[in-house]
Amino acid sequence: MISDKSTVVDELRRTIRDVNNFPKPGIVFKDVTPVLLDARLFARTVQLMAEPYRDARITRVVSIESRGFLFGAPIALELGAGLVPIRKPGKLPAATQRIEYALEYGTDALEMHHHAVQPGDRVMVVDDVLATGGTANAAAQLVGGTGAAVVGFSFLIELDFLKGRQRLQGRRVEALLHYA
Ligand code: AMP
Repeated sequence: MISDKSTVVDELRRTIRDVNNFPKPGIVFKDVTPVLLDARLFARTVQLMAEPYRDARITRVVSIESRGFLFGAPIALELGAGLVPIRKPGKLPAATQRIEYALEYGTDALEMHHHAVQPGDRVMVVDDVLATGGTANAAAQLVGGTGAAVVGFSFLIELDFLKGRQRLQGRRVEALLHYA
């Protein structure tokens, strides 16, 4: 019986699969798909990711393509908030706003539908993994540009050694699992 947070975190640590050298040599990819196979563990994970924001009057959950959607959608339902997908360029059908951000080599971009987030919205940003923080920071800038408030972030996993949290400075950052 999965109940308290530390039990769930232990269970998650055993369940998340490390895939070495994916998608390129030297990367240890944190595969969260085994969590999705266990309905009870998945449900508790969603509840615990939502928990810190239960009293934060969140009106929009913004989730980042693509694994962010897996957690963002049920968290939005859990909090009674709207769900907003942020996607790679060219995926969203209607008019979008876009942000470009620097990668180790080159740049990448994210898009969000116009008017999906409005001034006055209170937004929580959700993704599966916080690594260097570049993606989450870009998402927050995209949301911030609309005049909405970015209340905080919720990740399933934080790779502490990459110090992504430092790029999100001044904002609330929650993660269930930490890898040092
Ligand atoms: P970053 O912008 O470096 O924080 O990277 C975050 C994005 O890349 C997230 O959308 C993650 O899903 C993905 N990501 C980065 N590193 C990993 C990893 N080791 N395992 C799984 N996903 C990762």
